[in-house]
Parts: sequence; structure tokens; C-alpha cells
Amino acid sequence: MDLQLPATAPISAGLPATVSEYTQVWPQPQPTPVRGRPSIKRIAVLTSGGDAPGMNAAIRSVVRTGVERDWLVFGVNHGYAGLIADDMAILGRRDVGGIIGQGGTMLGSARCEEFRTEEGRRHALDVLAGRSIDALVVVGGNGSQCGANALSEMGFPVVGVASTIDNDLVGSEITIGVDTALNIALEAIDRLKTTASSHHRAFLVEVMGRACGYLALMSAIAGGAEAVAIPEVETDPEEIGEKLRTAYERGKPHALVVVAEGAKYNAEKLAAYFAEHRERLGFDLRTTILGHVQRGGTPTAADRLLATRLGAAATEQLARGEAGVLVGLNKNEIVATPLADVAGKRKPLDMGLVALAEVLEK
Ligand code: ATP
Repeated sequence: MDLQLPATAPISAGLPATVSEYTQVWPQPQPTPVRGRPSIKRIAVLTSGGDAPGMNAAIRSVVRTGVERDWLVFGVNHGYAGLIADDMAILGRRDVGGIIGQGGTMLGSARCEEFRTEEGRRHALDVLAGRSIDALVVVGGNGSQCGANALSEMGFPVVGVASTIDNDLVGSEITIGVDTALNIALEAIDRLKTTASSHHRAFLVEVMGRACGYLALMSAIAGGAEAVAIPEVETDPEEIGEKLRTAYERGKPHALVVVAEGAKYNAEKLAAYFAEHRERLGFDLRTTILGHVQRGGTPTAADRLLATRLGAAATEQLARGEAGVLVGLNKNEIVATPLADVAGKRKPLDMGLVALAEVLEK
């Protein structure tokens, strides 16, 4: 391995020949902040925010790897709302049997305004103390990890598990639920293309993504769409019309646009624009809004495996006494990122893929 020695290396230390020799001579990188208690006996797990296919597999993994360590694992119902309301029960191995293939979350998920307040979080801490719970695992997306960070900053050991179909979490290149949501969108696109080809019609599919165009962009690329509209890029409906028209002129039997719900011209606005200018543009758009259908699918193998790995990594972090982090995936390796670096940030879309989509859609 090619290792660069620090410029300040004392000559007397000599040049280490191997990695292990090197790490003996030089201090190791600082570990993530140690806030957890190595002597953990009781943990709780909750799912929060929008549900994502694979959350059940994450719960199952947290419970079974926790039980394996002789911990008592509490499942908290309805996210932070259930935590404040002390709505939880002990889960054993059998309680999480048969859920790995089910979408949604057996614990339920909820949004909770009270948890955004310090008073609400103090209440949650009282509940956790009342049950002698040593640490909490939060399975959820951006907002949920902000909540996890807020609780962690109040001194309680929390580990986040990256789970949202938006795939916009800093700290994980892919999050639980994305693969299933993408495959559902793709199935709809493939079916619409079949009917579009038979009738020479133009179709518009709206997928989820209020602030992030990841699902729309990836399903447009994988589905071979002729145009895509996402929140990150200004949409010009005239340009979309031109793309669809030239697709027909080049002999394509179908014309399909994928839009993210948060795009400036979402399905409703784009369809209205095309209806208003139908004569000039030459056609209108048949609209399909996938909405919550995308969340409801049976989790794919990729999501089940990711959720299982991340759930196990969460208990592993706690067992090592390292909390205050989000566990995610980077280059197919499990990584832990401080929650403070995750909270309030949004992973940017790869603009190289936006450019690639433009080349491929022609
Ligand atoms: P998704 O984006 O996949 O729908 P999410 O986790 O981002 O999921 P949100 O609705 O944004 O979903 O957040 C879920 C819950 O997390 C909120 O209802 C609230 O209880 C808590 N939360 C969000 N932001 C904060 C914050 N800044 N401080 C404390 N708690 C927060």
C-alpha cells in the first residue's frame, strides 16, 4: 500500500514498512464521538417520516442482532409521537418473523410536531429514562435524522439508519426503499410504453420527489423516457414538447415524459400547459400519477439486504459504544457519519446523470 507520511514525521521514528507498523507509530484517525454506553442492556427502535419498503427488514435486523447480544429491544409505535406517548412494547425474535417481505413498517410511522420542540424531546428522554432504555435506533429520512441529531445533542445515544425513497440523505449513497420505489416506477413506465406504442400516444408519469429528482431521473434513464422534469433543473414545457415531437419524427412509436412531483412543472401543470397549447404543440399528454403506489411495494432483494445490513450495523455501533452517527452505505461498505454532518443537509443530485439522460433520450 502506498502510504504518505506526514511532513512532520520525526526522523527517529524511521520509515514504517507495513500498514500495521505505520499505525503503531502514528496516531489512528479520531473515532466518531463516543456517546454510547458500552454496557447497553436495553435499546428501542422506531421508524419515522415517510414509510419506505425495507423498513420492516431493518426492524427485524435491529431486534434479532440486539437479542443476540442479550439486549432487551423495545419497538416504538408511530415514530417520535409514540416515543413521547410511551407507546412501545418489547419485541422478541418471533415478533419480527414474517415481516422481511412486507412493505411499510410494522411499527407504523408518523410525523410529530411536538418532537421538534425541546420540551417534546425532554418528554421523550423522560420516557426513555422511565424504561431504563440506554439507546435509540431511528430508521428514517432527512427529517427523522434531524430529530435523531437533536436528541443526540441532548446527550442521549442515538444511531440513525438511512431510510427514505428520496435518496437525499448525506452519509449514504443509497437508502432503504429507493430500489423498490424505482422498480415500481419502472414497471409503470414499461407498461405505459407498451400502450403508448400501440396508440401512438404521449404519456406523462409523475413519480415522488418533492425536493429531490433522484427517483424521476433514475426511472427516466432506466425506463428510456424521452424527457424528464426534476426540481433541480428549470423545466421549459416548450422544450419538452419539442423533445416529444422530434421523438415521433425520428420514428419512435412512443413519447414518454417522467416528472418529479416537486418539479416546477409537475404532472398537473405540464398537462394543463399541453392542453392549453394543444393545437400548436400537436398533441396532449395522458397523465399517470404514481403517488403512494411507489411506497407500497414488496421490498426488493436489494432493499431487504441493505436494510438487514444497516440494522445490524446500528446495533454493532451501539455495542462498540459509538453513537451519534447515521449508518449508511458507501462503495458497498457500511459507513458511519456523525448525525451532526447529516442533519439539515441534502445530498445533491449527480448532474452528470442529468447530462447523460439528455444524451440517451434522443
Ligand atoms: P421522508 O423524507 O422519507 O418522507 P423524513 O424522515 O424526512 O422522511 P419528515 O416528515 O421530514 O420525514 O420528519 C419526520 C419527523 O422527524 C417529523 O415529524 C418530526 O417529528 C421529526 N423532525 C423533523 N425535523 C426535525 C428537527 N429539526 N428537529 C427535531 N425533530 C425533527
